[in-house]
Amino acid sequence: GVPVCECNSCYGGKDCSQVLPDCPADADSGDPLFLEPFWVQHAASSAVVVAGWHRMSYRFSSNDKSSITVELEKCIRELHAVIGNAKTDGRYMVFGAGSTQLLNAAIYALSPEDSPSPASVVASIPFYPVYKLETEFYNSVQFKWQGEASLWKNRSDTSGTSIEFVTSPNNPDGKFRKPVLTGPSAKTIYDHAYYWPHFSAITSAADEDLMIFTLSKLTGHAGSRLGWALVKDEKVYTRMQMFMSLNTLAQSHDTQLRTLKLLKVVLKERGRKMFEFSYKTMRERWERISKSFSSSKRFSLQKLEPQYCTYFKNVTGPSPAYAWIKCEREEDEECTAVLQTANIIGRGGIVFCGDTRYVRLSLIKRQDDFELLLQRIDAMISKESGAA
Ligand code: PMP
Repeated sequence: GVPVCECNSCYGGKDCSQVLPDCPADADSGDPLFLEPFWVQHAASSAVVVAGWHRMSYRFSSNDKSSITVELEKCIRELHAVIGNAKTDGRYMVFGAGSTQLLNAAIYALSPEDSPSPASVVASIPFYPVYKLETEFYNSVQFKWQGEASLWKNRSDTSGTSIEFVTSPNNPDGKFRKPVLTGPSAKTIYDHAYYWPHFSAITSAADEDLMIFTLSKLTGHAGSRLGWALVKDEKVYTRMQMFMSLNTLAQSHDTQLRTLKLLKVVLKERGRKMFEFSYKTMRERWERISKSFSSSKRFSLQKLEPQYCTYFKNVTGPSPAYAWIKCEREEDEECTAVLQTANIIGRGGIVFCGDTRYVRLSLIKRQDDFELLLQRIDAMISKESGAA
């Protein structure tokens, strides 16, 4: 008989090729599938086959590292040197199941062991919500979430260690960030998830004491769960390693093997192939969405400036991972709801502990998701003057 086609909620027709008119444009998640076409093109050279008897051992202690761990560390150091986004000399490397696991390992490692009061963990609004959620969830006597960094700075009782998350470029707004808190007891965790040429100009090699990166936003393999921290201080490194070993014993060697294979492909021609594809994709999306919003008075996009990129050796225009939309009209206080009436699903500013007048739209999903998002945005903006 005729095969019955079960289309997902957005598609109809005999072969599911028709986009349904009332299908929402879902720009909520930061799933980095924009890189999928690159990996389709490099399917054979990036494939991994592992025989059943292969790599069965635990081998995890720092003086008995698996050879795959040693190789991957070397490869990541080479990648940072080629891209020029971070210094790795004199730094230890810690792997985690995504950078998510490392964020908490870093808080733990930076918190004083013997202090009567907990370290204060802060970030600047709008910030990636997991910093707050994780810190509160672990509910430790050694560290405590204290919210917005600048407010914390102005309080009278700010004694003891502070730990500030600095996301640069920032999620959600793509801006470069610097720490708000300084001084001998102010520690900083730099989250450089988005400091790659597809999302940002590389302006200089980051040289901080504790930096965190993730494969998710580098190659798009979010499901493989691999992140790494570059750590200057040996004591902090040892404490992070201890956290990791109590949390999971060791990081998956299968994931490390796959990552190594992917990074070898990335490193071909000094990264040119992947980063030219990825920058071009993100740049085009930003140019198109900027053009759409340029005719709107009701909504505005964040402003980002072109900058000299030391990797491309050129001034490059903005190409952020997310659009950070502001609803400008007095009555549009709930910007998420305004976009919802135009069938656009975004992530509200409140999720980033920010203002409800803002919404984050993900620009890093598949091309068809982006096209649908742009259609919905254009339809929404074209109705604007009539509705005003
Ligand atoms: N940091 C930031 C700023 C992020 O946006 C994300 C993912 N959206 C992460 C960390 C976590 O990524 P992962 O656990 O996949 O490495």
